[in-house]
Amino acid sequence: MIIKVDTIPSEGLAVELEERAEDFESSFKGSAYTLSGPLRAHLEFTVGKGSLYIDGEVSALFKARCDRCLEEFSFKVQTPVSLFFTRLPGLKGELELKAPDMDINSLSGDEIDTKDILLGQLALEIPYSAVCSDDCRGLCPHCGVDLNKESCICEAGSKVDARLAALKNYKVK
Ligand SMILES: [Zn+2]
Ligand SMILES: [Zn+2]
Repeated sequence: MIIKVDTIPSEGLAVELEERAEDFESSFKGSAYTLSGPLRAHLEFTVGKGSLYIDGEVSALFKARCDRCLEEFSFKVQTPVSLFFTRLPGLKGELELKAPDMDINSLSGDEIDTKDILLGQLALEIPYSAVCSDDCRGLCPHCGVDLNKESCICEAGSKVDARLAALKNYKVK
């Protein structure tokens, strides 16, 4: 949704958004994550003298393959949105929106694409490595069994075949 800053009434503007996962597909290409459901958000826009506030919340369902056990898992990201922009006179008398401290908060022009806002917030919340659970035990580096489901005797023996040991660092892309 495109919000024209000049059309935000002085009492503020509240919007409910539901975006299709397909529309965000390209944004997560190349990352370990895919959106697995619609992205929902509630945003409130408030204009002040030379400033703009965006408050609200965004939530989305993601799926990924666990780095440790290689099983697919899904998780929900729900995060508050709280952004502040200052408006500066830009080129050609256009207004520009700039946030002093963060890159993702800088916008130019007098329009805001809510997609950029939502993506920026979600990107901050997505974990760096995809792990299905903190205590996922992963695959045994020696025999490859999923240690969450089965146990093996490798650890006890610890006589590691060098060729198999190389698999320890192998990751499926
Ligand atoms: Zn796992
Ligand atoms: Zn094993």
